Amino acid sequence: MQLPSKVKIGPHVFEVVFPYVFTNNSTLCGQVDSTACEIRLASENAGVKYNATKVWDTFFHELAHKVLDIAGVDLGSRGENVCDLLAHTVLAMMIDNGWVVPEVPQ
Ligand SMILES: [Zn+2]
Repeated sequence: MQLPSKVKIGPHVFEVVFPYVFTNNSTLCGQVDSTACEIRLASENAGVKYNATKVWDTFFHELAHKVLDIAGVDLGSRGENVCDLLAHTVLAMMIDNGWVVPEVPQ
């Protein structure tokens, strides 16, 4: 299954930019830019390609950030952990139910 090119979250449409090269912080694997309305996903870190599961997990992590943000949920310092938990849970559920078959994205 390919990543979508766009995703609508609440009233906002975000472009999914993959692969994205983070020039300021090469350790980032994903980011939501609410100004540019982009969800940015890296394909590799230090020359090592991410597998499809990692890319999907990052995609769902970034979606969780924006969904919670639009809902007005402020998790403070727990935000990253909660977004990881949501991403892992949603991705595992989709894989376990056959709704997503990971493949290495283009
Ligand atoms: Zn995060």
